Amino acid sequence: METPPVVIVGAGLAGLACALELKQRNIAALIVEASDRVGGRIATDKVDGYLLDRGFQVLLTAYPECQKLLDYQTLKLGNFTPGALVFKDDNLHAVADPTRAPLELFTTLASPIGTTLDKMKVWLLKEDLLEKPVDKIFAQQETQTIDELKRLGFTSKFIESFFRPFLGGIFLENKLTTTNKMFEFVFNMFSQGHAALPAGGMQAIPEQLATKLGTSRIRLKTRVTKINDGVVELESGEKLQASAIVVATEGTDASKLLNDLPIIETRAVTCLYYEASKAPIKQAMLILNGQGTGIVNNVCVPTNVCASYGSGKGHLVSVSVLGNPFETDESANDAVKSELKTWFGSDVDGWKLLAVYRVLNALPDQTPPKIENPERSVKLRSNLFICGDHRDNASINGALVSGRRAAQAVADSINHAKKI
Ligand SMILES: Cc1cc2nc3c(=O)[nH]c(=O)nc-3n(C[C@H](O)[C@H](O)[C@H](O)COP(=O)(O)OP(=O)(O)OC[C@H]3O[C@@H](n4cnc5c(N)ncnc54)[C@H](O)[C@@H]3O)c2cc1C
Repeated sequence: METPPVVIVGAGLAGLACALELKQRNIAALIVEASDRVGGRIATDKVDGYLLDRGFQVLLTAYPECQKLLDYQTLKLGNFTPGALVFKDDNLHAVADPTRAPLELFTTLASPIGTTLDKMKVWLLKEDLLEKPVDKIFAQQETQTIDELKRLGFTSKFIESFFRPFLGGIFLENKLTTTNKMFEFVFNMFSQGHAALPAGGMQAIPEQLATKLGTSRIRLKTRVTKINDGVVELESGEKLQASAIVVATEGTDASKLLNDLPIIETRAVTCLYYEASKAPIKQAMLILNGQGTGIVNNVCVPTNVCASYGSGKGHLVSVSVLGNPFETDESANDAVKSELKTWFGSDVDGWKLLAVYRVLNALPDQTPPKIENPERSVKLRSNLFICGDHRDNASINGALVSGRRAAQAVADSINHAKKI
C-alpha cells in the first residue's frame, strides 16, 4: 500500500516553508488550506485599482530565511528610505540613518526628536548589533523592550516620540513590553537591509513560494475540523490519511484544533486605506505619531515606495491604529480623518476611504518569557507536528523558520521509524 502523504494544515508562510523543505527531502506532502488563497496573514486585495495589503506590513530584506527562500529580483521590491519621519509639535521631523540616507543628515541632526546623544546612541546600538548574530540575539537573557531602552540611556522624550510609535507599529503594542530579543532582531534587520514592498503587493511573497512548490500540492477551500491519530477530518466530512500531520495555522486556530495546546494571546491592528489626490509626503518613508497622544500610530504612502500599488489616478495612503478600538468603519474613518487633519490640513477632507481592515489575531504576544526559548518544540507527538510564527517569533522570518524546523522534525521521525 502507498504511504500516505504528510498533511500540512494551513498555507501561510510556515505551511509553505514546511512543504518546500519536505519537497527538498523527497517526502510527499499535501497542504490543506481553509481559505481560497495561499499566504494566511499576508494578503493583498485589489480595490479601485489599488493594492491593499490586509494590514500594513513590510518585508525586511535582511531576513536570513527570506534570503534563502525568496527571489527578490522577481518580487521587484520597492525600498523604503531608511529612517522615519516623526510628526511632533505640528511638524514632520526626519530621523534617518545618515550613513544610509545621506540627504537626511542635516535634517536628522537638527531635528528636535531626541538629543544629539540619543542619535549617537542609535548609531552605536546599530554598530553593536551588526556584530551580533541573530541566534545570539535570540539566545540571550531577555527583558521587556521598554526596560532595555531605559537601560541603554535613551531620553524619555526620544523613547516617547520615536521608539514608542516605531516599535509599537512592529510589535502592535505601544507599552513596549515585548521582549528585547525582538527589538534587537528587527533593529538589526532594519540596519542591514531595507524595509520593502513587492511590486505585486505583499501577497506576492507567499505566491512565489507556492509557485516553487507546485499548486498540485495545495488544496484550497479545504477546512480541517478535527485531527485524530494520523487522520485529518475535513469540513466536508472527508477523511485524509496522513503519515504525519503538521498544524501550520495561526496560534489561536491551532488551540482550537488541538485541545491540549495552551491558549496563545494575540495583538490586533486596524488599518485604513485612502485614495488621496495629493500625497501628504513625497518621501518613501514611514511617518510616526511622535505626539504621545491620539489614535494613529503610523502613516505611509505605499505608492511612494512602489508605484504599482497605485491605480494611476491618485496616491495610496495607509494609516495604522493599534488594537481594534472602533465599533464601525464610519467611526474609524471619522476619528482618523479628524486626527490627520491636524497633521496634513484640510486636504485630508478629500481623501476617499478605500477599506478598513481589522486584523484581530495579527501577531502572537511576545512579552517575556513567551519566547524565552526561541525555538519552541515543533513535535507534539510521534506523528503530530506544529509550526507557525507562535513557535519561533512573530515575523515573516520566524514563520518561515518554524516551517523548516517542522519539516526537519518530520523527516527525522520518518528516518527514525525506518531504522526500527
Ligand atoms: C497586520 C500585520 C502586520 C504584520 N507586519 C509584519 C511586518 O511588517 N514584518 C514581518 O516580518 N511580519 C509582519 N507580520 C507578521 C507575519 O505576517 C506573520 O508572522 C506570518 O505571516 C505568519 O505566518 P504563519 O504561516 O505562521 O500563519 P498564517 O499566515 O496565519 O497562516 C495560517 C494559515 O492556516 C490557515 N488555517 C487556519 N485554520 C485552518 C483550518 N482549520 N484548516 C485549514 N487551514 C486553516 C489559514 O487560513 C492561514 O492561511 C504582520 C502580520 C500582520 C497580520
